[in-house]
Amino acid sequence: MKENWQAIDTQKGCCCHDSQAAFFDRAVEQLGLTVSQQELLLQSFREVSVQIPLKLHHDGEETLHTFTGYRVQHNHARGPFKGGLRFHPDVNISEIRALAQLMTWKTALVDIPFGGAKGGIAVDPSRLLVDELEILTRRFVQKMAPVFGVDKDIPAPDMNTNPQVMAWIFDEYSKFNGYTPGVVTGKPIDLGGLQGRLEATGNGVAFVTAQTFNDLSLPLKNAAVIIQGFGNVGSYAALRLQSMGARVTGISDVDGALFNADGIDIVSAIQFVQKNGSLKGFPHAENISNEQLLTQPCDALIPAALEGTINCESESGINTKIIIEAANMPVTHMANDKLRARGITIVPDILANAGGVIASYFEWVQNVQRFAWDRDTVQQRMEACLSHAYTDVRKLSEKSQVDLRTAAYQLAVMRVLRSVELRGF
Ligand code: GLU
Repeated sequence: MKENWQAIDTQKGCCCHDSQAAFFDRAVEQLGLTVSQQELLLQSFREVSVQIPLKLHHDGEETLHTFTGYRVQHNHARGPFKGGLRFHPDVNISEIRALAQLMTWKTALVDIPFGGAKGGIAVDPSRLLVDELEILTRRFVQKMAPVFGVDKDIPAPDMNTNPQVMAWIFDEYSKFNGYTPGVVTGKPIDLGGLQGRLEATGNGVAFVTAQTFNDLSLPLKNAAVIIQGFGNVGSYAALRLQSMGARVTGISDVDGALFNADGIDIVSAIQFVQKNGSLKGFPHAENISNEQLLTQPCDALIPAALEGTINCESESGINTKIIIEAANMPVTHMANDKLRARGITIVPDILANAGGVIASYFEWVQNVQRFAWDRDTVQQRMEACLSHAYTDVRKLSEKSQVDLRTAAYQLAVMRVLRSVELRGF
């Protein structure tokens, strides 16, 4: 499915990595930046790739595989590099580079003292035994340790990585550097993790969704919301939105999608996935395809899965008022323009899903101070931070008559540029 859209959109010149560049170009057009300033802002500080050999044991046979891991450190003018690590077979350097840039803009937009980075390993973790995944993670850390550090570069969870993976990273790094919980965020609570970090991205998405409804004078109560992707971000966003009174009419995972016009009970869906590993077979909803899910009429559509799922091909069937980008780069720039022309409000990823990295910042502060915050404090401060950023973006978009994404990029880019120039990069 992903290969399909990539092929289609690449042919038409709008694959998601190009989209990220197009969004940047559009935003800086109005800012009057020189070509050299633009080049400076787009360059990666450092790009590391490592080879990780690993013996795999399947069906009684031992085979040797070499996996490739990446870390791209984009910009650290405003603070240490920050960003997630993903385990996915499609991970490649150009994707990681684009996602690292996105992290720089995200941390700047929500005004936390970090730069941007991203990393990952090209692997399908579902095909590895837990022990194999642990060895792979530890070897990755051994090779990346020189570029990681509490004040250098702090990884976090991303696609297919979780608190257990972060615990291995913390432990492996600490073997050689002493007890260092602040070298990674998204850890289990028992190892210096933050109360509420696990659900922070999804809760932040729900908070931004509520703000958007409010701004557009639309009631969230009983509003129909469709969420594509039921992983960490999608499931917690669904849960929160349901508790706020929205009707989550559609959800999906890799095995297919579910629809119920009266609303799907999200607590039962989460319990079902915990028991069965996927949404497949969940009762009380109609089974539809992932393509059909995107075309169901709704008030808000929340892509929380892969990049580029809303592209030139899927865009035409979309029937919503609002798109909240819970995933990173889910809407290609050509689809973005067509949706905008149809009057659909798009809340960009660097704002919509920033709750996760804001919570990571709190976890890092907590680790550096050796002091734990309670869940309510985390939630309130995360919402205050998101609310500031949301208001800034909304005001600039009205003042400059640009869309929310352009306004968000403009705010972020100018903050990074000021720091770059003050530091004399
Ligand atoms: N992977 C998340 C993101 O894309 C969180 C990154 C972090 O917490 O450092 O924003």
